[in-house]
Amino acid sequence: MPQVKPKVTLLEHTPNPERTVALAAKLCYSDATIENLQEGLDKSDINKFIERLRSFGHASPFEHASFTFGIEGVSRSLLAQITRHRIASFSVKSQRYVAANKGEDTFNYVIPEAIEALGEEQVEKFKAQMAQMHEWYTEWQTLLGGACEKSNEDARFVLPNAAETKMVVTMNARSLMNFFNLRCCNRAQWEIREVAWQMLALVLEVAPSIFGNCGASCVAGPCTEGKMSCGKMLEVRAKQKALVESISKPVEK
Ligand SMILES: Cc1cc2nc3c(=O)[nH]c(=O)nc-3n(C[C@H](O)[C@H](O)[C@H](O)COP(=O)(O)OP(=O)(O)OC[C@H]3O[C@@H](n4cnc5c(N)ncnc54)[C@H](O)[C@@H]3O)c2cc1C
Repeated sequence: MPQVKPKVTLLEHTPNPERTVALAAKLCYSDATIENLQEGLDKSDINKFIERLRSFGHASPFEHASFTFGIEGVSRSLLAQITRHRIASFSVKSQRYVAANKGEDTFNYVIPEAIEALGEEQVEKFKAQMAQMHEWYTEWQTLLGGACEKSNEDARFVLPNAAETKMVVTMNARSLMNFFNLRCCNRAQWEIREVAWQMLALVLEVAPSIFGNCGASCVAGPCTEGKMSCGKMLEVRAKQKALVESISKPVEK
């Protein structure tokens, strides 16, 4: 099936992200030395330090914890948006080294939900358009010398924004907070919003005290969208709260 859907995996993260952030805060706010910094820092101290940072708006200690995600099933349109976040590192599947077609199969692509909602006939039309572009892509590959780096790099000019890409993305917790503020918001485009909510769910599992009140900016304060506000602050807050609760809920045996 060439149709793909957004999927995020948390590949790696700083071991003990909450403790790491709390260590940085402890150094700032106590007379601890580097030698005894790690002594006597239990879970409740960690939570207190993180809460203190948050209440002071002291954000830089959150930069000490980073998270690496694998993102797949997303479009080149998403790529253009996510890479605007400069405080992040990206490695993206190459369209030069890796041909978009897989033998006879069409390249993978994302179908927007709004198009799916129009019904089967319109979805088939969209798929036929993708198949047409795949034909053009293959034609250019052949004319440019067959599937290889040199022909892929120019044949790709006829590929659509819908074409799938995959990437590895690393962000620190402070940058993620900014990312969630902007991209969990209803004003963000649906695909990057879906990716942002998946990322939030994943980091909440490993660092709930860092990300417990993160999400669209209206989760922890007023809406920042002014006249463009979706007006659904309560709904957004309830969704974020439900996510936090679903993750912190003990597993039933
Ligand atoms: C709903 C929505 C609509 C958008 N529409 C458009 C659009 O129409 N056109 C468009 O081009 N983009 C658009 N964007 C992208 C947006 O302008 C930002 O480029 C993107 O969201 C990255 O945000 P950021 O700069 O905060 O993140 P990062 O680049 O990760 O930066 C994080 C923070 O670091 C600081 N920072 C980083 N670099 C600098 C710098 N050079 N100078 C000073 N401070 C810096 C800022 O405080 C910034 O918030 C849109 C974004 C959203 C969420």
